Amino acid sequence: MKSSQLHVVIVGAGIVGLAHAWAAARAGYRVTVFERSDKARGASVRNFGMCWPIGQPAESFPLALRSRELWDEFTQATGAYARPTGSMHVVAHDDEAAVLEEFVNAAPDAGFQVELMTRSEVEERCPGVRRGVTKAGMFSRTEMNVDPREAMALLPGFLAEKHGVKIHWNTVVTRAGDGKLHTAKGGVHDYDEALVCSGHDFESLFPEIFAASPLKPCKLQMLRTVPQPGGWKLGPMLASGLTLRQYASFLSCPSLAAVKARVARDMPELDAYGIHVMASQDRFGGIVLGDSHEYGGFEIFDKAEIDNLMLRELHKLFDFPDWTIAERWHGIYAKHFGDVEYRVEAAPGVRIAGGTSGSGMTMSFGLAERYFANREAVA
Ligand SMILES: Cc1cc2nc3c(=O)[nH]c(=O)nc-3n(C[C@H](O)[C@H](O)[C@H](O)COP(=O)(O)OP(=O)(O)OC[C@H]3O[C@@H](n4cnc5c(N)ncnc54)[C@H](O)[C@@H]3O)c2cc1C
Repeated sequence: MKSSQLHVVIVGAGIVGLAHAWAAARAGYRVTVFERSDKARGASVRNFGMCWPIGQPAESFPLALRSRELWDEFTQATGAYARPTGSMHVVAHDDEAAVLEEFVNAAPDAGFQVELMTRSEVEERCPGVRRGVTKAGMFSRTEMNVDPREAMALLPGFLAEKHGVKIHWNTVVTRAGDGKLHTAKGGVHDYDEALVCSGHDFESLFPEIFAASPLKPCKLQMLRTVPQPGGWKLGPMLASGLTLRQYASFLSCPSLAAVKARVARDMPELDAYGIHVMASQDRFGGIVLGDSHEYGGFEIFDKAEIDNLMLRELHKLFDFPDWTIAERWHGIYAKHFGDVEYRVEAAPGVRIAGGTSGSGMTMSFGLAERYFANREAVA
């Protein structure tokens, strides 16, 4: 068999599936993707669009930067919205400022490109930060703002046109094994390798493996404002002191314990729903706001209480020209406690790839490229 005929099939056209499709095609495989919906509708279109290397643990930071380079390549090729805005963590408490200082002091060793900012420097750089309330800030230059809805709409065409990737939409995969992938439409497709990138769908394929895995579904509530007037720009994407509790990058900071203890004591309602607050901007100028985290057996329906708490915390730190909320939604991702991805052999020639938690937009391109680089190229 000619090596170029080796066939990789992928279940799921979210960012994880399409990142693997891109990496496989570049490594010389023939690639076919199967997606149950008519377009990506899962976590990959419901997020902030934050390519967020600053949130990664130090050991994953270089891979996050490589992912960002791939985002650059894709957005330049397609003209998709991409803003290299960097990010600003904005804090209003001494314990949070101490975390930032500890992080910045250790940052050069890990490669993080960050600097501490005074209140006036934060306010000068960030038009969306409320005046007179911050203690300090930390600017990081490595973050990029994309528009997930647009990116996930353009990526399939890019893969098809530039890399010959074939995508079957509206096609549920019901089984994969013994070199055959079966669909609910009765299709049977041969493959050399199958990758299951099914996001938080733990029930349809290999349910027993997912049940025994460290993955848990996590539900996040989100909001979006109307487009801001007059072309108003957010500047750097914004994160709060509460966000320091959320990302692995800050775990090594000794003062983080004090932040967590204060929030647990004074605002237990935030811990109950895993609330921290961040803001990005979409291509129409709307501000994307969130988020909360509920694990496991959450309700189907969204809670107004969560939205209100998020808005309460957002208003403390941020100030946008127009706070009118245009949309509310939730997204669900597969949370992996303890690693940046979940990868396991489900059957001979079939691997599950996912568990990217809150970092799938940041890490998927890099993770997928690394996966195919660690094997013999077939091109
Ligand atoms: C609200 C929210 C905000 C976030 N913000 C960010 C952020 O700013 N930056 C960041 O880096 N990450 C962020 N994340 C995380 C990121 O969005 C996820 O890690 C990533 O989207 C997961 O991608 P996925 O492809 O695994 O899942 P999904 O996007 O859910 O895709 C899985 C796909 O598989 C398909 N599928 C499943 N089973 C089958 C089957 N049997 N047959 C056919 N198709 C199937 C589904 O239809 C779906 O389209 C956020 C997540 C959420 C929910």
